Order: sequence, then C-alpha cells, then structure tokens
Amino acid sequence: MSILDKVLPGLTKKRILNNKEAIRVHSWMKVFFGDVIPHRFTSDEKLADFVRDNEYCCVGQSHSYNGVQIVPDRNAVLMGKSTLDSCDCYPVDGTIKCGPSTTIEELKRKLLDDDLKMFNSGNYMAQTVIGALVTGTHGYGAKATMADSVTELTFLDGSGRPVTLKRGEPDFPYAVVSFGTIGPIISVTLEATKLVSYQSDAWITRLSKKEKLKKGSIATSWAVVPYSDPKDPLIMLHTLRPASVGKLAQRTKPSLFSWARLAMFIIERYWAIDRIFPRLRRPLQRLADRIDIRNHRRTITDERDLDYLYDPEPLLKSQRSPDILTGLFSTTHTAYNLAFHVPIDRAEEVVKFIMVETDKWRSLRFHLKSLIGVRELSDKSALPFAGNYEGPTVAIDLFADTRDYAWLERLQREVLFEFDHIRPHWGKSAIVPEFADSLDQTDMDRLRALHQKHYPSGNLKPNERVRRLFKLADRGAPQMAETSAAK
Ligand SMILES: Cc1cc2nc3c(=O)[nH]c(=O)nc-3n(C[C@H](O)[C@H](O)[C@H](O)COP(=O)(O)OP(=O)(O)OC[C@H]3O[C@@H](n4cnc5c(N)ncnc54)[C@H](O)[C@@H]3O)c2cc1C
Repeated sequence: MSILDKVLPGLTKKRILNNKEAIRVHSWMKVFFGDVIPHRFTSDEKLADFVRDNEYCCVGQSHSYNGVQIVPDRNAVLMGKSTLDSCDCYPVDGTIKCGPSTTIEELKRKLLDDDLKMFNSGNYMAQTVIGALVTGTHGYGAKATMADSVTELTFLDGSGRPVTLKRGEPDFPYAVVSFGTIGPIISVTLEATKLVSYQSDAWITRLSKKEKLKKGSIATSWAVVPYSDPKDPLIMLHTLRPASVGKLAQRTKPSLFSWARLAMFIIERYWAIDRIFPRLRRPLQRLADRIDIRNHRRTITDERDLDYLYDPEPLLKSQRSPDILTGLFSTTHTAYNLAFHVPIDRAEEVVKFIMVETDKWRSLRFHLKSLIGVRELSDKSALPFAGNYEGPTVAIDLFADTRDYAWLERLQREVLFEFDHIRPHWGKSAIVPEFADSLDQTDMDRLRALHQKHYPSGNLKPNERVRRLFKLADRGAPQMAETSAAK
C-alpha cells in the first residue's frame, strides 16, 4: 500500500460520486449497475503493481445479466477494455493460451487459422474468454461447460504475484469457475478440437416426440412455446450429429395457404412479432398450439462456421440480417435472461411447472417473452461450481421484458422451493442464499479458503451477493485509486 493510501485511506461514497473519473458500469440489459473508478492496463506488470496497492474487482465485458461483475464504489479492473489480448495457438498440442482481454470471437478466429475449434461455447461471442469461463458459461452436448477445457490458468494474488494452477492440482477446479473470487486471472490455456461438419436438424414438434427424434444425436436443445399446452408443449427441437456422407440438406414444410403454414410463419418470426405486438404474445401462441404443426429442416453445417451451434446457416447471424433488425428486435437486445441448471431427468417436469405457474400470473400482467430455452449438458463436469458438476443437467433460460426482471427472480425462487438440486448459472441466475442447499458445503469452504489464502488482506472484492453466499467477510472501507488512465 502506498504512503498516500495510508494517509488518505479510501474515498467516501459521496466523494466517489462527485469524482469525475467514476463511471457507471451496467450489467447486460442494465438491470444492475454501480459507480466505479475504471482502470485499464497495457501489461501484466502494471496490473500487478496496481493490485498490490489497491482494493479492486474484475470486470470482463460486463455481459453478465445478474450483475456478478459489479462491485459499486470500488476500483474496477476493466479486462475487456484493456489490451492484454495475447492469444497463441499450439496446434501440435491442440491447445490455445489467451489473456484476459481476449474475446471468444478472437479466440475462435485464432483457432480457425490452425483448423481447430472450441469444444463448446455460449451463443454470443463478444464476452472475454476468462469472464465467460469463470461464470460457468456453457453450450450444449458433451463438454458443454466451456471451463472443462481449461488445462492451466495463471492469476495474480493479493500481492501481485503470479500463481499458476494446472489441471490435476487440488486448487485448480475451484479457481476455474470462481466468479470473481479469484482474480485477476491473467491467462488461461484451453484444449481445442478438430473442425467437424454437423448434420443439424430442427423440428417444430411436441415434447412427447423429443426422445424419439433426438436418438443418436450428440447434442440436443429445445425451446418451448411457453403458452402452449403444458401437458404436451409445442417445442422447437434442435439436434446435432456428425455429418455423414450422402445426407443432404432438406426441408419439409406444410402446404402453402394452410393454417399450419401461417402458424409456422408466425413462430419463425415470433421474436419480431412479439416486439411489435406484445399483447398478441399469448393468443398467437395458443393459436399455434391448436394448429398441429409439423416442420423439419436439415442443414449440413460448414465446418468453418463459428456459430454453427446456434445458427447452422453459413456466416454469423449478425453478418446476414441487417444489424438494425437484430438490435431492435432480437431477445438478445430486448429481454432480460435468467437461467439455472436442473437435473436432466427432472427437466420436463420443471418446464411444465414453469408454464403452469406463469400462466397463473397472467392476472398480474406478467408474460414470459420469447421461448423457454432448454439446453442439455449431457455429461458431468469436473468443476465443483459448474452447473453440471453433479451429473447431466439442462440449463433453462427464461426471458422477460426488462421491466419484468423481478418476476423472473420470483419464478427462480418458486422452482428452488419446489425442486431439489437446482444449481446456479453464475452469470444469469439471481445469486440467492437458497442455492447453498444444492452446492456442497465442503466445496464452498474450499473456495472461501482459496480466496482467503491468496487475498489475506481482502483487497480483491467479489460481488456482494457472492460474498454473502460464500460468507466472505468484507474487510475495510471502500478504497479507490485516484487515477483511471491506461497503465
Ligand atoms: C447476449 C448474451 C448471450 C449469452 N449467452 C450465453 C450462453 O449461451 N451460455 C451461457 O452459459 N452464458 C451466456 N451468457 C452469459 C455470459 O456468457 C456470462 O455472463 C459471461 O460471464 C460474460 O462474460 P464477460 O466477459 O462479460 O464477464 P463479466 O460479466 O464482465 O464478468 C463475469 C465474472 O467474471 C469475472 N471476471 C471477468 N474477467 C476476469 C478476470 N480476468 N479474472 C478474474 N475474474 C474475472 C468478474 O469479476 C465477474 O465475476 C450470455 C450473455 C449475454 C449478454
């Protein structure tokens, strides 16, 4: 700690707010926010000098919905806005090493240069790789939790000293998915895999048909029409299989000028219709439910397509549709998204419970937006705080208008009350004390011990809700460094 800090220990909240250098950091969709002094870095050495002398928290691209990245009235180390974006691929080992400013898209493009890809990923690529890893970001299928591919990471301890942990070491699994309790993480090494072309099948069907249709697939996700019949909901099912010789793209559609064709037209453009005519949300879904639509589309993905998991057509979705449409209408830019993990064998039951519960809340004028996303994480993670640590899960994604955020938190609470083993998504769930029941107490103690071992003076400040859940003491008054210039 510098002499100046000892003489002038910390700034009061009032002074911070008056300080022109404080900026407001927002979570994605702006539900959570806080005023912080921003700090950007150009080298690991300067970052080490800074953490040694200051209290701080770490922010990636601030894309988490639940505000886990926000610690008001602190110094915020803005990793996503720094230039620590080295990214080196080692094709012989099949690994890639990157820094804290590297985004998922940059990592994917770097891998592509060597004909490699990530095992799995979330459906948005602007996040920092490290920010995504530490919140347990996932895709679906095998190795769905991205952090399962990490083989090594290096972070700075409270004295600015680098600490490297490798897969197999006892502390390693706790540091990988650690949601701001260990940091700054300054590099990670991930395993990659060879490029593959997939047969991507998309159906509009009923939930009761899912098991039969998904047979033989290596990755499955489904999206439920929330106001369809909860006894057997209307779903959009998506499966992936490695492409085999002779299988070609195909499309079956209901005949032109039929009710089914009209309903399909509506479902496929639902996100835009919903935005323009929100009041039609429920009636349109009831109509689509009554017309028994069947549709199937098969696409053979391009092995060099970066977002094949979510958009099987070539190129990125944003490169095809005019950006203005994406920005104005898509749920990515208009809805709050809350998610949690549910054991895979309870998934259908939980989804039906959510549908029935939500329909009851119509009288309160609450409506779920878009579809209920269900991604199957088909294997077990080795990381204690990953969603699928106890076994295969589904990640259930709920969407609502941003002003209805609190209803989603209530829905999460109802599910937690009704079902066991509901585990958090660290970037999307409301982080509430009830999650402690489904996390192992020994694992929680291990993460707390790891945090205290490396930050004994408490200069790294995790988010308040995380601190409460893990009983991490908040030692000392807020203290912010005065300068925010690039270092
Ligand atoms: C449009 C959109 C789509 C999404 N899709 C998916 C999806 O498909 N699947 C999914 O699972 N999630 C998804 N998410 C959630 C998202 O992947 C996570 O919330 C992710 O953590 C955001 O990364 P970030 O770089 O913005 O990190 P931030 O939100 O800035 O930070 C997240 C956490 O990481 C910590 N952190 C950041 N950098 C460091 C560092 N260098 N060292 C130590 N700690 C650090 C922060 O302290 C904080 O605790 C989506 C989010 C959005 C906005």
